[in-house]
Amino acid sequence: MQRWRVVRFPRLIRILPILGLLSLASVPVVPAAPVANAQGTQYSVWLVESCTFKDVPAGGFMPDRAFVPGSTKPENSQVFFQLPVNIGIIKGGNELVMYDTGWKQQQYIQLNNCVNWAPIREQMAVIDLKPEDVTKVVIGHGHWDHAGQIDEFPNAMLYVQKAELDGIQWALNYPNPKISETVCGRRPACGYPPEIVDQIYGKILANKAVIVDGEMEIAPGMKIWPAHRAHTAGSQLLEVATARGPLLFGSDAYSSWEGIRDWMAANIQQTDTVQQFLAYERCYKVTGGYENCVAAHEPLSYTEGYPLTANSWTGPNGSRGAEVTLAPGEPSRRP
Ligand SMILES: [Zn+2]
Repeated sequence: MQRWRVVRFPRLIRILPILGLLSLASVPVVPAAPVANAQGTQYSVWLVESCTFKDVPAGGFMPDRAFVPGSTKPENSQVFFQLPVNIGIIKGGNELVMYDTGWKQQQYIQLNNCVNWAPIREQMAVIDLKPEDVTKVVIGHGHWDHAGQIDEFPNAMLYVQKAELDGIQWALNYPNPKISETVCGRRPACGYPPEIVDQIYGKILANKAVIVDGEMEIAPGMKIWPAHRAHTAGSQLLEVATARGPLLFGSDAYSSWEGIRDWMAANIQQTDTVQQFLAYERCYKVTGGYENCVAAHEPLSYTEGYPLTANSWTGPNGSRGAEVTLAPGEPSRRP
């Protein structure tokens, strides 16, 4: 781990605050707007996993489900979780939208023991879709395993919360390296190494980003909800109208679907667990329950145990995918 602590990018870190100001000057910040879907647009949704985090200690993911030797409680009897890194692919109207992007930076993927990685282009080819056709990329937050393939979508607008950019800049510029180190697991700048920050700011510098401040409707029947501090400073959710009712994508505000169902905190980072629970509640309010909450790292993904993802397959390099729902008239793309 020590060798990774020297990974810094001082020049970029120095100019980040300036970039932030420039971007705010040139990119619209749109105030809260009510969700609207006059045409009744419904979207098709697929899920693919970028890779699988192997053998994550149960308590490191969900503290209330930590392994307790000798315990007879089922929630304390599992030693490790296998955690997918889920990416949403959403198609309907004139839009092809990604919710999170996974990652491709092999040094970090290996360091974090994430196996069965596959490039997003190959995963999309399985369902006959192309990265070039993606119109919008919404990142639930800016961490490496979610924001690491943004540049695979050259024609897409990036949607990121202003609070996330502020949080990244604050953490990277903090003078204490225990706060500002970027290759680690829990502290504020963890998961924001230079190659990842470049992915986000590359879009901003190319004038291909919308910096969102709170709620925003980004297409008919598709709305961003803020979930600030539910995982990171500027975490955000995405509501999507579908034939199986509204889905709510949550990235790491929704690391565990079982966590939402059972009201247990999961995958705390800079998390205010109160805000995480309010993000859970948002899903109940928007979708009417917990079944349609789309989780980033649910261990039951691609099995019957997580019904939304049960219609699944194994794709490139052993990575899994699922057809979640189809819009009227959209044929199945299941391989
Ligand atoms: Zn994550």
